[in-house]
Amino acid sequence: MKKPPFILLLLAVIVGLAAPAARPRRETQSLAFQGIPMELVFRALQPGEVILAELKQTPPVKRLILEIRNRRYVLDGSAAGARPFVLIGIDLAVKPEPLLMRITEEKPDGTVEKFREELFIEAKEFSRKRFYVNEAMLAPPAAEQERVKREQELVAAVYGTITPEWLGTGGFMSPLPDREAAPNFGQQRIYNKSHTSVHQGVDIAAPWGSPARASNSGRVALASSLYLSGKTVIIDHGQGVFSLYCHFSQILVKRGDLVKKGQVIAKVGNTGRSTGPHLHWGIRIFDSRVDPFSLVSLPLHD
Ligand SMILES: [Zn+2]
Repeated sequence: MKKPPFILLLLAVIVGLAAPAARPRRETQSLAFQGIPMELVFRALQPGEVILAELKQTPPVKRLILEIRNRRYVLDGSAAGARPFVLIGIDLAVKPEPLLMRITEEKPDGTVEKFREELFIEAKEFSRKRFYVNEAMLAPPAAEQERVKREQELVAAVYGTITPEWLGTGGFMSPLPDREAAPNFGQQRIYNKSHTSVHQGVDIAAPWGSPARASNSGRVALASSLYLSGKTVIIDHGQGVFSLYCHFSQILVKRGDLVKKGQVIAKVGNTGRSTGPHLHWGIRIFDSRVDPFSLVSLPLHD
C-alpha cells in the first residue's frame, strides 16, 4: 500500500520541476486573502518586482481602494468590460520588511468594509560590477551639465504626468524578443573605485540598426536625443506605467503618437553613454523602478 503514493509523489515532483521550463514566462504565483475580493499575482515579493492586483467581482464590488506606501490604487468594479486590475511596483531599493496594505471595499449597497494586510518583502542580492572608464565618461563636461540637468527635469516631468486609463493590450513583451537580455537589472556599479550607481533597467545587446518594438501599446511621451541616454523613447501605458528605451541610432516615432504592442519604434544604436550597440530597457511604475521581465511574466488580460 505504500508504493503507489510514493510513485505519485515522485511524478508530481517531476511534473512540478518540468512545468516552469516549458513555460518560462509564466512562473508566477497568486495570493488571496480571506474575505477580500482581490487576487495578487507576482513572480516574487522582492525589490524590483511587479504585483498584479485583480478585482474579484463575485459578489459584486463597487470599488476596492488599495493603499500601499502612501499611494492609492483604485479597482473600479463598475467599469464595463474586463476584470479590473492595477499594477504595483516594488522599487528596487525597497527594504526587506513587511509592506502594509490598507484595503477599503465599497459595496453596491453603499456599505464599506476595511481591511489591513501585510506583504512580506524578501531580501534580494543584486549583482555588483566594477568598471574602469575614462573620467570624462563619469561626469559630463561643465558645458554639458546644464543640459543634463534640464533633461533630467524633462524626464521627471514625463514620469509625473499620469494617464488614469489603461492603454496597454494584454501582457508586456521584450522590445527585442529574439535577443537574450543581460541579467543586470539592479546591478550595483562601481566606476573607477569611487563613483557608484545602480542599473535601473536591463541591457539587451543587438546588432546596430536592429528594429526595436514597443513592449506594449501606449502613447509616446518622449522621443528625443538626450546627453546620457542618447536617442531615447518613453512610452506611457497608462495607470502610472512607463517603458523607457535608450541608445537608439534612429527613432521612428514622435511624441504624442499612439503605438501598438510590437510596433517597431526605433533602431538599436550606440548613442549617449554607451560602449557598444545595445538597448537599455527600463520600466517605471509611478516612482518605482522595476525589472522589465517581472512585468513580462504577468498574465495581463486585454
Ligand atoms: Zn543599461
